[in-house]
Amino acid sequence: MQKTLVIIKPSAIQRGLVGDVISRFEKKGLQIVGFKMMLLTDDMIKIHYSHLVDKPFFKRIKDSMQATPVLILALKGVDAVEVVRNMSGSTNSRKALSGTIRGDFSMSVQENIVHASDSVESSLAELKRFFTDEELFDYSPLIMPHLYSNDEY
Ligand code: UDP
Ligand code: MG
Repeated sequence: MQKTLVIIKPSAIQRGLVGDVISRFEKKGLQIVGFKMMLLTDDMIKIHYSHLVDKPFFKRIKDSMQATPVLILALKGVDAVEVVRNMSGSTNSRKALSGTIRGDFSMSVQENIVHASDSVESSLAELKRFFTDEELFDYSPLIMPHLYSNDEY
């Protein structure tokens, strides 16, 4: 089973979409195994968005990500990284497909509601970045036989 990291961005918090976003992941059958609220520091953002640090718009991304505290989730499931990324939709919300979180809830490239890990490798680094081992919980969903066949996990 994979774990992946989601950040519910200030755009979702200001617009009152937190419940809708979490509800989609829950209804899909992803298991919440970590959850916290924090104000991202400058250093956290520099590391998390290191691939964008040299872009002229990095400061506006940083300001946007620090506009409010964010909610950080660890979600677990078979192929969770790809599933959550697909549910999030393309970076540009105007091009993201309907049915995705960005496609349904937003109109912006920057103010696009969620961050989701883009690969297994980045999910491992991002989970470590935001959660200690003790903050990630191991518990068995009682509905497992109704989520997967027993040869899928
Ligand atoms: N971003 C932006 N303009 C760009 C590229 C990215 O404002 O041209 C912001 C946007 O909020 C995006 C985040 O920076 O979600 C991280 O960019 P990335 O390319 O990693 O996209 P993501 O993985 O979030 O789809
Ligand atoms: Mg990314």
